[in-house]
Amino acid sequence: SAKITGKNTFAYFKPAMNDRIMEKIQNQAELRRAIEKKEFVVYYQPQIDLKTDKITGFEARVRWEHSERGILKPAEFIKLSEETGLIVPIGMIVIEEALKKLKEWQDKGYKDLTISINISVRQLKDNDFYHKVKDLIEQIGVNAASIELEITESVALQESEHARYVIEALNELGISFALDDFGTGYSSMNYLKIYPISNIKMDKSFLDTLFTDDFNKSIIESTIALVQSMNLTVTAEGIESCEQEQFLKSVRCNKAQGYLYSEALPADQAEAFLLSNR
Ligand code: C2E
Ligand code: MG
Ligand code: MG
Ligand code: MG
Repeated sequence: SAKITGKNTFAYFKPAMNDRIMEKIQNQAELRRAIEKKEFVVYYQPQIDLKTDKITGFEARVRWEHSERGILKPAEFIKLSEETGLIVPIGMIVIEEALKKLKEWQDKGYKDLTISINISVRQLKDNDFYHKVKDLIEQIGVNAASIELEITESVALQESEHARYVIEALNELGISFALDDFGTGYSSMNYLKIYPISNIKMDKSFLDTLFTDDFNKSIIESTIALVQSMNLTVTAEGIESCEQEQFLKSVRCNKAQGYLYSEALPADQAEAFLLSNR
C-alpha cells in the first residue's frame, strides 16, 4: 500500500493533477472570503401565471458579485461549493435574503407573492437545515405557505433517508416542493409518489424540442396532462418566444418563466417589474 508521508506524497500525482488541486484549494479559499465579504446576492426571476398573465412570484437565484470578475453565475461556483460543503452557508445566505425580500414585498401589498428557492442535496443533508429554515421563517415572520423549495432528481437518486425526512418535516410546516430540471435526467414519475412534490419544473432543454416535430409536441402535451392528473402543477422554464407561450397556454400549462418575460433581476429591478405588472 502507498505511504502518504512527507515529500513522497507528490510522487503520486501527475504535475497537471497537482496544479488542479492547487487551483481548487485557492478557489475554495476565495469562496470563503466571498462569504465573509458578503459577495453572494440574490437575483429574482418572475414566474407568470399563464391563465392571468400576472406574476405569482419569483425564483431566487444566487449570484456572486466578484470584486474583479463581475457578476458570476452558479455555473462558475456551485459545483465547488457543493463539493466543499460551502453551499451550506451560501445556501443559508440565499434563503435568509430571499425570505426577507419576500416579507418586504408582501408587506407592500403583494400578499399572495411566492418565492421559489433552489436547494442542493448537500443542504438537505446538513443536520441543522430544518431548524435553521424554521427559525428564519419565525424570525422574519413570513408564511411558510409562500415558500417553495426546488429540488432535483439527485435528491431522489442519493436515497438519503435523512434528506427525505427533512423534506417531509419542512412540508409539514407548510413549505411546498418543486421538482426542478424535469425532462433532463431519468425523470421518473415514481419520485412524485415518494416525495411530497406539488409542482414540476419542465427544463428548457425539454421544451426546446417543441417545434422540431409534432411528436415532441405531443410528448410535452401528454406529460403536462399526466402530471396534472396527479394533482400537480407544471411550470415551464426558459420560455423565450411567443410561439412557445401560445403552445403552453393551449395545453394548459400552469406557469412559465423565461427571457420572454424577464431574466433574473436584482431586487430593486424585480420590484419595479412587479409594479409594472400590477
Ligand atoms: P435552474 O434552477 O434550473 O435555473 C434555470 C437556469 O436557466 C438559470 O440559470 C436561469 O438564469 C436560466 N434561464 C432562465 N430563463 C431562461 C431563458 O429564457 N433562456 C435561457 N437561455 N436561460 C434561462 P442560473 O441562474 O445560472 O442557475 C443555474 C442553476 O444553478 C439553477 O438551475 C440551479 O440549479 C442552480 N442555482 C441557482 N441559484 C441557486 C441557489 O441559490 N442555491 C442552489 N443550491 N442552487 C442554485
Ligand atoms: Mg430552479
Ligand atoms: Mg430548472
Ligand atoms: Mg438546474
